[in-house]
Amino acid sequence: MVAVLTREVVPLGRELPITDNHMHLDPKKGEGMEAVRKFLREGGRTIFVVSKLTWDLGLSGVSVENFSRLYRATIELAKLAEEQGVRAFPVLGVHPAEYHRMIESAGIERAKEVAEGALELAARLISEGEAVAIGEVGRPHYPVAEEIVGACEELMLHAFELARELGCAVQLHTERIDEEGLAKIAQLASKAGLRRERVVKHFCPPLIEKSEELGVMPSLIASRKNVLAALEQGDRFLMESDYIDDASRPGAVLSPRSVPRLTMRLLSEGRLTEEQVWRIHADNVERTYGVLL
Ligand SMILES: [Zn+2]
Repeated sequence: MVAVLTREVVPLGRELPITDNHMHLDPKKGEGMEAVRKFLREGGRTIFVVSKLTWDLGLSGVSVENFSRLYRATIELAKLAEEQGVRAFPVLGVHPAEYHRMIESAGIERAKEVAEGALELAARLISEGEAVAIGEVGRPHYPVAEEIVGACEELMLHAFELARELGCAVQLHTERIDEEGLAKIAQLASKAGLRRERVVKHFCPPLIEKSEELGVMPSLIASRKNVLAALEQGDRFLMESDYIDDASRPGAVLSPRSVPRLTMRLLSEGRLTEEQVWRIHADNVERTYGVLL
């Protein structure tokens, strides 16, 4: 007689997927792989390793070559992280704070040429399977002149166009955003022909319903208040620590432990179900980035 498969036969206690959607690693200024081990020890499984700024590597000047070195370093850090036992996906881009500084030092024409070249290089590495997404790109989070905002938006549009061609996601860094700001970003994605689901708003406030309505994917800092507010509206979001791995700025952001810790705590308190953990840390991630965990 053939055994009938019932729910009971399905292996229980599958290891939970825990994904940090936005983490930086900087062995030079911070703790590098020790941060990855901290994440792993708390139950973390997947990290999106986002490139920092070329000056974090001690590079000066404005050149595509500097970005090439930054991207190679980011890809290498992701490989080292995988050796620690996590899945690590590199995300490569031109940080808006860096683009701002490039414009100030080299002028808008030259800065634009280099930044576009850097994004095109990121796109090539993604097409070769070395990285999975473009980011972080966008606008500075601090007030800047209109001219800078305009230049950043042009660059963001270029990133969206490259992402459309590749079918990849874009992680966005912006000023503190509201519903109206999110709607404008969604419109910009449509203008570039990029599927809105590919637009990940990093450091997003808990605007879960609005994001769903617009089609963009919010990524929330793993603070208890933030995530509980989000859960009241659903589970269509990602979680991140925005760890910057810089020992000179302790407390500037959350620790690399924060995403797994908060997830496990909310799960044990019954504020989050196992099904929701799978949705937030696996389904939403796979759908947004087109990766398999
Ligand atoms: Zn960041």
